[in-house]
Amino acid sequence: MDACEGIWRRLVDERRLPREDWRLLIAHAGPDLKEEARSLASAITRKRFGNAVWYRGIVEFTNNCRNDCLYCGVRRSNGSVRRYRLTHGEIVAACAGGHAAGMRTFVLQGGEDPAVSDAWLTELLSELRTRFPDSAVTLSLGERSRKSYESLFMAGASRYLLRHETADPAHYARLHPPAQSFSRRMACLRDLREIGYQTGCGMMIGSPGQGAEQLACDMAFIQEFRPHMIGMGPFLPHHATPFAHERPGDGETTLFLLSLCRIVLPDVLLPATTALRTLLPDGCARGVLAGCNVVMPSMTPETERSEYLLYDGKPVSGGVKETLAKLDAELSRIGCGLVSGRGDHPATRQQEGGTACRTADAAWRR
Ligand code: SF4
Repeated sequence: MDACEGIWRRLVDERRLPREDWRLLIAHAGPDLKEEARSLASAITRKRFGNAVWYRGIVEFTNNCRNDCLYCGVRRSNGSVRRYRLTHGEIVAACAGGHAAGMRTFVLQGGEDPAVSDAWLTELLSELRTRFPDSAVTLSLGERSRKSYESLFMAGASRYLLRHETADPAHYARLHPPAQSFSRRMACLRDLREIGYQTGCGMMIGSPGQGAEQLACDMAFIQEFRPHMIGMGPFLPHHATPFAHERPGDGETTLFLLSLCRIVLPDVLLPATTALRTLLPDGCARGVLAGCNVVMPSMTPETERSEYLLYDGKPVSGGVKETLAKLDAELSRIGCGLVSGRGDHPATRQQEGGTACRTADAAWRR
């Protein structure tokens, strides 16, 4: 604790740090400081959100992708994947199953599939809005044009998750082929934010080439960008990628970074990711104890789930109700529980829809 005492106090007081202090803190924090961070993050989370953990359902509706991210199991170059794209009917049916189980946010996720046009998505959003008017839709479809983001927002998507993966341009180039650009990723995030989406970024912990310096870049970026959501889990290798033999990320470091995010952004929506739950048997409970307040189980039909393997070990079986029951039992052991509801970011809830949500809702009602 001694070496970082001053930096830690500054973080507690100011909820932000210069990048070099982030580097020192991440590189040198010992078990005592990590426990103090966890305890503070947990207290902030309970104060802001009580013992409730929101649950959202993810529909991984296409594993087609034009990109070739070096860490991803469904990258374009992996010829062993059976490619699929769900129909509107199949997506709506998956959401109906989730809705019956109490889900009020649907996360539509997929690769950057050229066949998923704005018109195709707009029609789908309209159908979801009609069928489930009490529910929010989050999109997680990678990089698109600003015009596309705008039209999807006006069609009713109010949240967008786009992981930045790393805020260090040189590290970004280590994780992606030259055709994928760091500046383009950052421009997309800025566009999403400006349009009015509740915007999520995030990164893998322990990805190849990442050390305290890169994580310090991430924390400095997060404290400036102030996302509404952060999707952060450990790096887990996939056998059919260039990173097949790299070491997985570390659970303790992931939990520490989650706590730091909660301390910097007390209201942020912070999932205990599937990757964290894959790495640690009690990852959901430990994530929540470290500051998480969301879980996002899969609603993807089981017939397709095994073809959406972003990393090895990702769970491919289990119905929605069964998965929720397991998560709830794990959470009840730490005095928490799943709660149904849209679970908007508090800043947008306080304004009862805020400008962004009002605009989207008005567009939907037309
Ligand atoms: S991480 Fe996303 S964009 Fe990259 S290859 Fe995988 S699905 Fe495509």
